[in-house]
Formats: sequence, structure tokens, C-alpha cells
Amino acid sequence: QVDRYLYHMRLSDDILLDVMARFQAEMVKGLGRDTNPTATVKMLPSFVRSLPDGTEKGDFLAVDLGGSQFRAHWVKVFDDGKQSSQLESKFYPTPKEVIQGNGAELFDYVADCLLDFMETKNLKHKKLPLGFTFSFPCKQTKLEEGVLLAGTKHFKVRGVQDTDVVSSLRKALQKHKANVDVLALVNDTVGTMMTCGYDDQRCEVGLIIGTGTNACYMEEMRHIDLVEGDEGRMCINTEWGAFGDDGALDDLRTEFDRELDLGSLNPGKQLFEKMISSLYLGELVRLILLKMTKEGLLFNGKVSTALLTKGKIEMKHVSAMEKYKEGLSNTKEILTELNLFPSEEDCIAVQHVCTIVSFRSANLCAAALAAILTRLRENKKLLRMRTTVGIDGGLYKTHPQYAKRLHKVVRRLVPNCDVRFLLSVSGSGKGAAMVTAVAHRLAAQRKQIDAALAPFLLSLETLREVKNKMRTELEYGLKRETQASATVKMLPTYVCGTPDGTEKGKFLALDLGGTNFRVLLVKIRSGRRRSVQMYNKIFAIPLEIMQGTGEELFDHIVQCIADFLEYMGIKGARLPLGFTFSFPCRQASIDKGTLVGWTKGFKATDCEGEDVVDMLREAIRRRNEFDLDIVAVVNDTVGTMMTCGYEDPNCEIGLIAGTGSNVCYMEDMKNIEIVEGNEGKMCINTEWGGFGDNGCIDNIRTKYDKEVDEGSLNPGKQRYEKMTSGMYLGEIVRQILIDLTKQGLLFRGQISESLRKRGIFETKFLSQIESDRLALLQVRRILQQLGLDSTCEDSIIVKEVCGAVSKRAAQLCGAGLAAIAEKKRENRGVERLQITVGVDGTLYKLHPHFSRVLRETVKELAPQCDVTFMLSEDGSGKGAALITAVAKRLHNVGQK
Ligand code: ADP
Ligand code: MG
Repeated sequence: QVDRYLYHMRLSDDILLDVMARFQAEMVKGLGRDTNPTATVKMLPSFVRSLPDGTEKGDFLAVDLGGSQFRAHWVKVFDDGKQSSQLESKFYPTPKEVIQGNGAELFDYVADCLLDFMETKNLKHKKLPLGFTFSFPCKQTKLEEGVLLAGTKHFKVRGVQDTDVVSSLRKALQKHKANVDVLALVNDTVGTMMTCGYDDQRCEVGLIIGTGTNACYMEEMRHIDLVEGDEGRMCINTEWGAFGDDGALDDLRTEFDRELDLGSLNPGKQLFEKMISSLYLGELVRLILLKMTKEGLLFNGKVSTALLTKGKIEMKHVSAMEKYKEGLSNTKEILTELNLFPSEEDCIAVQHVCTIVSFRSANLCAAALAAILTRLRENKKLLRMRTTVGIDGGLYKTHPQYAKRLHKVVRRLVPNCDVRFLLSVSGSGKGAAMVTAVAHRLAAQRKQIDAALAPFLLSLETLREVKNKMRTELEYGLKRETQASATVKMLPTYVCGTPDGTEKGKFLALDLGGTNFRVLLVKIRSGRRRSVQMYNKIFAIPLEIMQGTGEELFDHIVQCIADFLEYMGIKGARLPLGFTFSFPCRQASIDKGTLVGWTKGFKATDCEGEDVVDMLREAIRRRNEFDLDIVAVVNDTVGTMMTCGYEDPNCEIGLIAGTGSNVCYMEDMKNIEIVEGNEGKMCINTEWGGFGDNGCIDNIRTKYDKEVDEGSLNPGKQRYEKMTSGMYLGEIVRQILIDLTKQGLLFRGQISESLRKRGIFETKFLSQIESDRLALLQVRRILQQLGLDSTCEDSIIVKEVCGAVSKRAAQLCGAGLAAIAEKKRENRGVERLQITVGVDGTLYKLHPHFSRVLRETVKELAPQCDVTFMLSEDGSGKGAALITAVAKRLHNVGQK
């Protein structure tokens, strides 16, 4: 009979799945910027972004306001690797005049109690951080600020709604001269999650089922419209008690729910909570019994005065009656006390009513929790998820069957989540202290990270200084007296003009100097069918050859050429060849180049001071298999400039941002003192990578730069290149990561084997990690592939480090380029200069921000120059062929 009577309170799994879907939709609504104002589930950001990681330590205070009692806590957290902590608490009464008074009185009282607490615990001597648990819905804009939302729950203190409760508390504390620092405002759900999170790092949901009911969980920042930023996660206080306030649950609410609501302090509000929390379950039971009695179904139809009295049946009665193990004795006793004269059937029926009402509570709670768990699992893109829910609250803790029922239903509703339910032992007070401890740790960490990265932040002033210094060094390199000792060598290339479009023929080109060695066949057509066709083959240069003897290196090169000629079927042809050799060479003509010194990854012996064209010729002779006409030795920057110059005659600068960093540009002959003649222009290979080798930019070099330099093949050399190019950026990042780990700021302070490996952090990873499209989860995956086991917070820090390093690289490169552009503008003697820079290099092409920051910096530092950047397509191949073609033409003209 009871079953039939309460048919609507018995919820099937189908209905629960439906409730779950409705709650999921409501969460999405609460998270959206436009939909939040009308959402019933407010999804309040808590500004708690991190869970405890076990390295927290120190003494923390907490005050807990919101439950039935007011409490002060002192939590000692030990950094002993065992997650141990000690909690001492004291309860304070909440006198009626305080609860029904105004806000100032309330906070004065809180401050009074706290001072008393500190006095008794002897804590007055040092300033302690404090966390404030305040279990009413607050709109937070930071961790230590929260405005109490109007029209909520049973908060009767006047003049507090719509004000920031933290500043009120602070004011009261100041007035009482309490030596504390309020660091965090914490909802009790969040406190529960944090308390449990300290013991179980999987805990990412906090649940309260007591006088009220509410839940919080860790949401992805990118889904939280109301808070800036996309990185990481933040705890959301769902305030789920208001679910259904828009009528979304009306089909499930019974006449008893409606009656209860009408008789409550806040009709129409917190409708979900009214079906779940312990404050209301007893009353629901009373209303049901009353009606059943009136209809003659119970107690012979005799209604007692007690049964007519609101609040006569409380949660503790319901719990007691449901103690099945104790038979019917409890039920009988309770009903008798209510002046009802129950028969045995009455007792059985009433017990059953209690069960239906409390089971419905567990069912509804399970459905909403299942929605949260599903959201978490989907956020993580997992098919199965293991997670922990931290729970607190009297109903869950004291009702004999509630916990078991809740667990069972949740597991049934979300079979693909392995959920651990963890009871919060010391409650939300400790949680507030944990939030404070985490905030304290994060603030200290933030300071250390900022300090480590501060040297990478270059002011506009500093960048201007770099530009000016570069300018000085450019001049030194051009002047006869100073060029011998100049660090920016300003090497003449004997390339005096850009292509004029009449070039044609078949050419071979070699490209040596970067990641790959390539041999190319380039066919150039002129006139109306003007075009360039290229065929190329990439060959590996093994490390033992890059760093072996010069003879071995050049024999290997010739071997590769032979393979290529064979492969193309052109072995007999004696083709003109351009040799792109991207290392500093002192040239006396276009086909002679003496290697000044190896850079980047090369270190073959017996080459420095030798003519590379001679070495190549000798190697060809040694092989004695074919002959080649070596026409030009070309730097890759020059090739790049020429390739772009073929399309755009305004291109007079060539820039490489790849493995290395270098620039060339067309300089007026009259400024190049070491080359005869004052007419026209010649391309100068600046070799600016050596900028700073005299110590002139040591003021901006960090200890990480120095470590990278010391571990390189050419210590002390190429200092600018080592701050700006692909070969070194990853290595700088690695050095910072090691340092931050040593300081305990990353990877839980553990330097893994892989992090010790030189070169594991390639520059391409900077590009991947810094890509805006990449979610943090993917950053973690990249780090995992590198053998770096990172948390969410670690990934944020790593991304920040990468950003600092690549941004500085782009800015420094921009400062250098601004110096060149300015010089060209002055050479021409114009107010404004229009110029094009031909660019090549994977760092420029593939890094998500490098090229933009570079352009912005040039614009800022050379405001009188309109610089256009033009991507070169295979400058070292096509450019070498074009230079060869021009040289060949001039040579032929000369011979005639
Ligand atoms: P070169 O060796 O001739 O300079 P590239 O211009 O292709 O050749 O540059 C290669 C260098 O670019 C690599 O050594 C590496 O440091 C860097 N690099 C490779 N991939 C990326 C990427 N995705 N983003 C940024 N830099 C990269
Ligand atoms: Mg290259």
C-alpha cells in the first residue's frame, strides 16, 4: 500500500539517468557566459586551481562559519613525505544575538573567538596564514575575495549580502590586532575535497550531504567562461541545491515536496536540496504520515497534535527508524512519543515510508554526482576513469544505510568510473587550512619561478641597447682597423647584384651547414617561361664525420654527390656548381672561401683556415670519377636573399632562423673598407651569431645561457646565436627546468634521467608546447614522451618557461634586425625605408609565435622602416643556383 502511495518517490534507473542528463545540461548552462545569468546551478568558480601535492608545510589557521557551529582550527602540515598533519580545533557557541544581528557584529565575534583561540594555543607570536570556510554561495573573483550572493539559504545576518566577506573579516581582525593573513575563502565542499585530496591525490570531487547538500569538482579552465585563461583546472562550486528552481524537476516533485517548500523559509528556492538534505527529510516524512493518517491508512486515522506540528520529526528520527537491525523498537518508541498509537503494521509502514524518502534522497544525489563524474571523464577524454570523491555531512555519516545506497547507485549509473568514496574525517576546517597551505605554497613557488624567468624579460630599453650595440659591432666589422678583432665579422661575399631574370641553365647545388646535407639539381628558365625546377636528395652526415677529420668530411660529401649524379643519370655532365656552405668564410672572390671557424654542430679537424672550395676540389680529384665546375661558394643567408630577390627586387636582407642564426644584407661598397672599390653594393654576410663574444651583451646573459655555452662544442663563441637559434633554445629550456626542479618547483623535485640528457628537449617541442591550440593534457603527453612525468601545474610552468625563452630569442633577433634596417635606411639617406627581408629557417617558419614577436620588435625598434618579411622557398638550393648562374654569366662576359 505504501509503495503504491509513494509511487512517485520511487525512482527507476531510467528516471535517474534522465535526471543525470538534465543536471549535465544545467552544468553546461552554468558554465557558459551567456547562459549563466539564467542558470539555476550557478557553477561558481572557487579560484582553487591546485590540489595539495604533499609538499605543503607550515602552520595554518582556519575559521569555519556556516554549519550549525562556529569553529576555529590550527593545522600543522608536515613536509615529511608521509602526508601527515595535526589538527587542533575549538568550538565556539553562536549566540542568537550574533546570528540575528548585523555583519559587523558577526565578524567582530569571529575575530574575538579567533584571538581567544590563538591565545590558548599560544600562537600569537608569528603571523599565520588563515583560510576562511564560509558555506554560503559567494561570487569569487579571486581566492581571497567573495561577495555573498543575495537571496540565499538561511543566512540571516543583516548587511552582509552583496558585500565581500573576506574584507569584512580582515577589517574585524585588524581592529582586534590579530596577527593573521587571510589567504583564502573556501566553500565547505571545496574544503572537503581539499582535505581528502591531501590523503588521496586522485580526489577531485567534494560532496556535502548534511543539513544542506552541495558538490564541487575540478573543471577544465577552458570550459569556464567566467574566468580568464584556458590553462589548467579550477574547482567549481556547483551550488547544486538550486537545481530545479526553474521547474526542471517539477515532474518528479510530489505534492509533499510542494507542501514542504511552501512552508519553508525560502519558497521556490533550493528545490533539489529540499528533496535531499537532512534539514528536510524528517519534515517530508511528517507530511506523508499526516496525509496517510488523515486518509485512514495509519494509526486508525487518529492524528495527534505532535504530528500536526512542523519540525516534530527530524532526521535523527528517520535514521533511528531505519535501523532495521533493531527491528521495530525504535520506530515504535518514536511514534509513541508523538502520541500516535502504532500497531505493528503501522510501524512497518512508517519504517517503509522513511526508507522511501531517504532512498530517494540518495538516488537523486547519486544522479547528480554521476553527471559530475561523467563530465570529469569526458573532460579527460578517458573511456574509463578512476577517481575519488571526498564526502562530508551528517546525513551521509550517520544514517545507517545512506552511504551504501549512494555508492551502489552511483556505480550503477556510471559503470565506467571506478569511484572511491572517501569520508572527510576532520571536515571543512582542515580543508580551508589545506587550501591556504596550497595557496601559500603556490605563492612562494610563483615568486621563485618569476625570479628564475625575470632575466628573460627584456625591457624596450634593453632591447634598444642591444640594437645600438649591434650597430656598433656592424661598424667595427666593416672598418679596416677594427675588423680583425670584430666579433661580428661582416664577411664580403663578392655577390654584387641580384638576379635580373635572364639567368638560365642547369646547375648543381650543395647545401651543407644545417641539419641536413643536400645535393640539388636546379633548372632555371628565363624569359616568358621563367621558372625554377629543382630535384634534391637529402643525405645524412653521421656525427663521427661532422666531428671527424676534414678529409673524411669532404670525401663523404663527394660520395653523396656521386650517388646523386648516378641517381639522376647525369654522371657525365660537367655542370656548374654552387656550394652553399653555411659557416663563416673569409672570401677573396666568389669561388674562394676560407673557413674562419666551425659553428653549430660541426667540428671536423684541419678545416679552419683552409679554403673549402679547394678541399672540395681535392676530394673530387681523390675520387677521380667525375669533374665539376665549382663556380661559387655561398652562405645560406645570401642564398635566401637571392631567392627572394628573384621575386622582389626590394629584397636586400637575408635572414636565417633555423639551427643557427645569421643575417646578410646589401652594403654600399664605399663602406666596406677591406674590399677595393667604391662603386655599387656587395652582399655582406654579417655572421652576427658571434655578436657578444667580446662580452658586450653579458649583462643580459643568464646563468642558463652560460651553462648552455659551457656544454657546447664551441664555448665562449656565438653567444648571440646561442640565445636565438633552434640548436640552443631547447637546451636553454632544459637548463631552466633542471634548476626549477632542483628548487623543488617542478616534477616534485625529482630530476629524471631523461631531463639530464643533453639535447632531449628539442626546439620543435617548444613549438608544440607553445601552440595555442594545444590543451594542457597534450602538453603533458609531450612531456611524458620525453620521460618527464608532469602534473597539470608542471605543464603550465613548462609552457611558461618555453614562452619566456622563445620570446626573448625573437626579441633579440628583432633588435639585431632593426639595427640592420636602420643602417640601410641611413645608407640611403631616406626618411622612410621600404625594405624586404628574405627569411628561411624552421624556427621562423614553424614556431607559433617567433615570427610575430620578431616582426613586432623590428617595428618597435626601427619605426622609420617598413619591413616586409618574405618566406624563402629553399634559399640554400635555389639561391645557390641563381648566384652560380649570375657568376657564370659575369665570368663568361669577362672571358669574352
Ligand atoms: P637549418 O639546419 O638549415 O637551419 P632548418 O631551417 O630546417 O635547417 O632548421 C632546423 C632547426 O630548426 C632544427 O635544428 C631545430 O632546432 C629547429 N626546429 C625543428 N623543428 C622545429 C619546430 N617545429 N619549431 C621550431 N624549431 C624547429
Ligand atoms: Mg638551412
